[in-house]
Amino acid sequence: MQYERDAIQAMTGYTPGEQPADSGIIKLNTNENPYPPAESVMVALGALQPEALRRYPSPSAATFLSEAARLHKLSTDQLVATNGGDELLRLAITTFVEPAQPIGIAEPSYSLYPVLAAIHGSPVHAEPLGADWSMPDDFGARMNAAGVPLTLFVNPNAPSGHLTSAERIDALASELDGVLLVDEAYVDFADPGHDVLSLVNRHDNLLILRTLSKGYSLAGLRLGYGIGAPGLIAPIATKTRDSYSVDAVADTLGAAALADQAAAKRTWQAVRAERQRVCAALRTRGFTIPDTEANFCLAQVPVDARKDAAGLYEGLKDRGILVRHFSTPRLENCLRISIGTEAQNNLMLGALGDLLR
Ligand SMILES: *Cc1c(COP(=O)(O)O)cnc(C)c1O
Repeated sequence: MQYERDAIQAMTGYTPGEQPADSGIIKLNTNENPYPPAESVMVALGALQPEALRRYPSPSAATFLSEAARLHKLSTDQLVATNGGDELLRLAITTFVEPAQPIGIAEPSYSLYPVLAAIHGSPVHAEPLGADWSMPDDFGARMNAAGVPLTLFVNPNAPSGHLTSAERIDALASELDGVLLVDEAYVDFADPGHDVLSLVNRHDNLLILRTLSKGYSLAGLRLGYGIGAPGLIAPIATKTRDSYSVDAVADTLGAAALADQAAAKRTWQAVRAERQRVCAALRTRGFTIPDTEANFCLAQVPVDARKDAAGLYEGLKDRGILVRHFSTPRLENCLRISIGTEAQNNLMLGALGDLLR
């Protein structure tokens, strides 16, 4: 007897990056921030009172939202807090897409998008990114022609790290008939100067995703948020979202994390510096790497190398270093490598050097 919906029966679940129990493993596979959360966040954790756990949390995550509003100079009705950015993705689909309507994505991008579409019973309308990972000029027109009510666009792109300019995002939001969700999971690591947040005051169809998982070293906390016009935010915040999807710990610690910009910025700057060093070192070894503004790089293995990407992935794993390898056609000969600490990166570069020698 099959009890699942047909759509669930037919789909394949998301494959998360490996999370080994052994803390001696060097994890360069899931794009976590390699540095610990801010000291002020750990102090806030220690100061939590039992009462905060006995009671239900604030349904809106009010402490966090008011801190986010202050940081971004927006009002709280332009913000919604979610259980990680991933919950916002699911809620955007639930809120803006009729079952069976197509969901627009660029390809390649975040491998969770097709999974969420399949759960909803929606087909995916995928448009390929250019050879240089840029958005094609007719991307918006093609989404409109396909009747897409929601387009998911990750910027900086995963898995390449390519950054699409704010001007291009602005133009895309104008072009699209439906909602544009810009997934900014990695935007904290972009070179300073890139900013699309102010665009939410001019576009009623632009929803921006942020998360504390990467930039604030809080992947274990499960806290993300959406930024958009009040008319986009309200149905999510007051109807489709679970009342208590953000718990009391996340509400308090998330606010502490946003309040300590100086601490977070130190980690972003350290990641940028290491990113530059790692990419240069890999290019010297013959890897082709698109310019990246994220905390990872997509390294294409040289064709004449002693081992292909799958072989290098296995060889690194044998040496206790995890990176990500995707066996889709465009990514087959690439490794996606998260930027770690200086010591971790040196071990990874040394191991790759050995494997290729
Ligand atoms: C990490 C990530 C998210 C959100 O992750 P959460 O941990 O759920 O906040 C969203 N999009 C992309 C592309 C990501 O890599």
